[in-house]
Amino acid sequence: MIADTRELIAKLAESATATREELAALLACDDSAAKDLFAAADGVRTRAVGDEVHLRGLIEFSNDCRRNCLYCGLRRENRSLSRYRMVPDEIVKCSMRAAELGYRTVVLQSGEDMWYAAPILADVVGAIKAARDIAVTLSIGERPEDDYHLLRNAGADRFLLRMEASSPTRYAQFHPDSDWEERQKCLRAARTARFQVGSGTLIGLPGHGVRTLAEDLLYLQSLDLDMIGVGPFIPHPATPLAGARGGTLGAALRFLACLRLLCPRALIPATTALAALDPSGWEQGLRAGADVLMPNVTPLKYRDQYDIYPGKVWSRAEPAAFRREVAEMVERLGRRVSEGPGHTRLRREAVDEESRAAAGTRRS
Ligand code: SAM
Ligand code: SF4
Repeated sequence: MIADTRELIAKLAESATATREELAALLACDDSAAKDLFAAADGVRTRAVGDEVHLRGLIEFSNDCRRNCLYCGLRRENRSLSRYRMVPDEIVKCSMRAAELGYRTVVLQSGEDMWYAAPILADVVGAIKAARDIAVTLSIGERPEDDYHLLRNAGADRFLLRMEASSPTRYAQFHPDSDWEERQKCLRAARTARFQVGSGTLIGLPGHGVRTLAEDLLYLQSLDLDMIGVGPFIPHPATPLAGARGGTLGAALRFLACLRLLCPRALIPATTALAALDPSGWEQGLRAGADVLMPNVTPLKYRDQYDIYPGKVWSRAEPAAFRREVAEMVERLGRRVSEGPGHTRLRREAVDEESRAAAGTRRS
């Protein structure tokens, strides 16, 4: 069995192709085969994208949300959570602080909070881009189509929207008030607006076994994504899935490694949820194919309230000390922190042209 699995890993590393059954076998492989899988993903990562690790400063600017996703602590019906919103000026100041700490990207993330109408967010993005040569990623949920164009024209570079499941039926089980087709439409709209687009999924939702996850892997590959973020589902006590078993670190790492083998040049983070399950989760993610980390730079006073799931590791760490700690960990692994913005590697020419134009605008 292990010999077969090794052949499978070698074939996938060589060709970036696999069937659903083959991927299901890899996702279910034992710990000894998993070591080979992680090593193969690490090798493909080295060859395809090198040793740089891209650090993105994560700013969780609002925990208010109009949605009711069954798994998430920010869901509308979690009335035990006290809600906050950072005002636009505060978001810009926090981004400036992130730039001072050396981040070349800020990720602005929130619940699906329509208080931030697109023109408000566009002003925030415009102010950040005018002041600093950093990339801006948005992770704000679903938006009307016109918003993508407005936000892109304001200078936002990237848009993250996890698909959460590759089938409409499975998506519907966990999302009582949103629709799979609509989410896919948003991903297409972000692409049409010329964003670098990221998506991903949760590992370990109830009923999602390895065959289901293998389908998700193939679907993610077919989307030709610039970034792909996946993490274990961690049950939150104030949600309908409080009693669920949740995803494991091992399952999430196997999925991540398969992703690297299927999409060698994608930007793939070791997500915060990996570290919430195990303090060495980021390090293990980096050894299994990841090349991005998103240290939290949100003001400390808001950290506890951005309560998506329990155990957000280092959630109270002070941003400057935390960045140093993360950089040291990266170096211990024989890798190096990237000094560039870490743009997509898939659509380079368009991105390079835009960066040149933006630099010209800042100078004039
Ligand atoms: N509201 C936006 C959205 O849903 O796209 C962005 C913020 S949302 C908190 C970011 C991601 O958190 C979601 O895409 C989801 O996959 C993840 N998430 C939510 N609840 C989670 C949980 N209990 N365990 C792990 N990840 C979770
Ligand atoms: Fe809201 Fe996003 Fe959480 Fe869903 S996953 S409840 S949209 S914050």
